[in-house]
Amino acid sequence: MTNLNQNFIAGEWLAGVSEIANINPSDLSDTIGHYAQADEAQLQRALDAAENARREWSKAGLERRYEVLMAIGNELIQRCDELGTLLAREEGKTQPEGRGEVYRSGQFFTYFAAEALRQIGDNADSVRDGIEIDVRREPVGTVAIISPWNFPMATAVWKIAPALAFGNAVIWKPANLVPASAVALTEIISRQDIPVGLFNLVMGSGSGVGQQLVESPQVNAISFTGSVPVGRGIAQSAVGNFTKIQLEMGSKNALAVMDDADLDIAFACALNGAFGSTGQKCTASSRIVVHRNVHDYFVEELGQRASAMVVDHALKEGTQIGPVSSGEQLQQNLANVELAKKEGAELLCGGERVERDTEGYFMTPAVFVGTKNDWQVNREELFAPIACVIKVDSYDEALATVNDTRFGLTAGIITSSLSRATHFRRNVKTGCVMVNLPTAGTDYHVPFGGRGESSYGPREQGQYAQEFYTTVKTSYILSGDPA
Ligand code: NAP
Ligand code: MG
Repeated sequence: MTNLNQNFIAGEWLAGVSEIANINPSDLSDTIGHYAQADEAQLQRALDAAENARREWSKAGLERRYEVLMAIGNELIQRCDELGTLLAREEGKTQPEGRGEVYRSGQFFTYFAAEALRQIGDNADSVRDGIEIDVRREPVGTVAIISPWNFPMATAVWKIAPALAFGNAVIWKPANLVPASAVALTEIISRQDIPVGLFNLVMGSGSGVGQQLVESPQVNAISFTGSVPVGRGIAQSAVGNFTKIQLEMGSKNALAVMDDADLDIAFACALNGAFGSTGQKCTASSRIVVHRNVHDYFVEELGQRASAMVVDHALKEGTQIGPVSSGEQLQQNLANVELAKKEGAELLCGGERVERDTEGYFMTPAVFVGTKNDWQVNREELFAPIACVIKVDSYDEALATVNDTRFGLTAGIITSSLSRATHFRRNVKTGCVMVNLPTAGTDYHVPFGGRGESSYGPREQGQYAQEFYTTVKTSYILSGDPA
């Protein structure tokens, strides 16, 4: 009988060699389930199965790929309420955020279903007479997908959907903190008309089965989203086998609020960007760079609005900020609040652990003012509901401050000046830039990624995804009379 807390390997649901408990961060008395942990032998079965399955899949008709991806996408969209609730229950984002993530995951599948049919290649004349050249893309092979806990479904899906669309096999190692969403998605994929072993869910710790996966010479490409240190380690492991890699990592995104800003837009963007998903977003606005002419009014109002945000159980109606995802993350957040104070920041509001009806990892959103960009709180990713305001004297100083980071995923500017907005878009050193919009919140049909320590390798999403999930073949055909 299928136990839906198991790994899915070579077309079978398999018990692990051990189990981990999956606890609701909004209510520590709520155990969602115990989930299987694979060992190296099970991972090896998945790798072998994937190798066979991908040969079959890469030859399967394009319409079959299209139909499989559409079916997965449509089911996710239809079940977004139910699965969004499960996601919110295990990760702690609010139910509307969880629902939105599942809905968006469905859209990734339907988008890439259509991409599977876009088979327009390049051809060229040779520089030699009578020879034609055909350039086309082939699947890269077996793709290892390693995803983080903060977007349990979406970060994995924006890799799984293109991997399958472009004809590859998948081994997915989700974050151990969020196995329920992984199993729910796998259950949908397992019911599709795909070769046995094409899609494998291998749960386990990153340092165990994750590390074994990235070291395997049977893996042709690794797509990873997570932290910088883990990404760096994966890159080092991959290079030994010349495995293709795509890494999406941390960031330290800044939102610049200019003195000509529509301040209602600025408040909405700052609150959404800093505290949406409890600040646990790679695109979060953790630095808020504010022009001195509007600074005092802006911070006072921001503090009031942040204090008014409802922190509570993720599934409770009206909750705006769910709990922090784990006890470890909460401890780290509280330590960062202390660090900011020690560095000299003034705490305007929040930054405290709070109690609610259920025992959970609740923390009020923190706004710090008077911070300097070279302080550690403004250098390191916090991944927390903590925003640090940096006061600047001019637009030029704002731009320089935004760019003064080793990361470069997103940045935003709030301004009513077209020329400033244009200058900012052209001179900011990030992969994504937002004008009068929050730093978080991106579409699924266009590229996503960053610069510096935020990303490494080809872009994800949209048509750009094919760069990673395919390999290019150039054919030369003698078609006329040799000269
Ligand atoms: P993490 O600790 O780096 O873990 C990410 C994934 O890697 C997890 O599945 C983890 O497994 C696994 N892992 C850990 N060590 C590994 C190893 N040696 N070999 C292979 N896999 C290994 O990151 P996280 O704490 O889950 O997520 C937060 C981070 O993700 C933040 O830095 C955030 O900025 C980043 N993020 C980036 C983006 C983006 O698109 N740029 C999007 C979302 C999140 P276990 O955790 O199960 O052990
Ligand atoms: Mg982790």
